[in-house]
Amino acid sequence: MSCGGKEGPPPPPNVLLVVVDTLRADHLTPYGYSVHNTTPVLQSLAEDPYGKTYHGMLGSSSWTKPGVATLFTGLDPRGHNVMRLVGKGSKLNDAHTLGAEFGRGGYATGCVMSNFLLAKRMRSGFEQGFDFYDDTVANKADPHRGSTAVNISNSGIEWITKQNELKPWMLVLHYFDPHASFEDIQEVDWVDPNYEGWVVGGASTDLLREKESSMTAGDRAALNAYYDEEIFATDQQIGRVFEALKRQGLWENTVVLFTSDHGEELGERGHIGHTQTLRSELVDLPFVVRVPKAYQSAWNMPESAGGGYAMRQIYPAMLTVAGLPVPEDRSVEAPPFLIAQVDFVPVRKEHIEKYVQKRALRKNGMQYILDTRSGEELLFDLNADPTMQSPLPAEHEAWAGMRALLDEPVFWEEY
Ligand SMILES: [Zn+2]
Repeated sequence: MSCGGKEGPPPPPNVLLVVVDTLRADHLTPYGYSVHNTTPVLQSLAEDPYGKTYHGMLGSSSWTKPGVATLFTGLDPRGHNVMRLVGKGSKLNDAHTLGAEFGRGGYATGCVMSNFLLAKRMRSGFEQGFDFYDDTVANKADPHRGSTAVNISNSGIEWITKQNELKPWMLVLHYFDPHASFEDIQEVDWVDPNYEGWVVGGASTDLLREKESSMTAGDRAALNAYYDEEIFATDQQIGRVFEALKRQGLWENTVVLFTSDHGEELGERGHIGHTQTLRSELVDLPFVVRVPKAYQSAWNMPESAGGGYAMRQIYPAMLTVAGLPVPEDRSVEAPPFLIAQVDFVPVRKEHIEKYVQKRALRKNGMQYILDTRSGEELLFDLNADPTMQSPLPAEHEAWAGMRALLDEPVFWEEY
């Protein structure tokens, strides 16, 4: 009680989880990106005395549904069963979603969702447990076109402003702009003015598919520039939310977490998009947090013994810093090695060649990837080759140890 002169425990913090769709860590300023100043707001969060940048956060998959399901359930794909467009046994339907756990703990819970796959009308259950689930943007016509970050921030700020100061809140803001199409953003102009190729701002996803296997270095530079412009625009909008929190006097009792659901291939290996591999550009995700002074002692994010962090640790870490119990079958403890898995069936029949099933294991700076359809196996030394350009030869000593981990029951088997 402050009136007695002795400080009691702080009130429960508000918790803000910012998820940016299709955002690879290596294009962000706190992760050393210097081609463009994509994320000044995120950089200032990282540099804050109470900010921290986590390196080595491995995404649970390489596309939206399994990735966000991990954030919303605290489970790997094998645990949450959200691997296909429609899945059986989804843990999004049980009582332990992120929204439900915070709601049970006395929190007001909100989510502003931009991705059409996660809209309520898709009946996947991502809205389970949230008091407020605004998917207005996710329902707009032609969801890939245009910029929506301003709408997400507006809705989030409006919701925060309406909250009662006696009740803590947990809010998820899911931004979509860095996802294709890659729009030309007015505030910055990062495309080489002398470039005259086919890459233009807002190029359709069909055009990207048609051209992806024949890109020149100039095409790739232009595509990267438009991607970076969208990241910048999103970062600016996230900054508006931070400013609103400061204006309302909420900054020192709000825990802020920033991450993404998966990354993006920008012409690497002839692909633009996500789902097709489990290499660095798709599974190495950002994780930056700011835990105000009063809550530092409650923050816990243990590193894996094999290095790095699992995406499923974010959910229990959020509950723990809020002083809430973590459900029995979830844990903030890092597994001894990290996994990612993709089992993607394309939405459109004409894209069936994009059907992909892969598994990845990461431990001690090594990443093993198995294509379960073709049997192809790849092994990379992340210290020598962090962008996974050159697979190690078959005689490398690390193969046996990584293959042995496949016997652990960590992957979803039912295809
Ligand atoms: Zn996504």
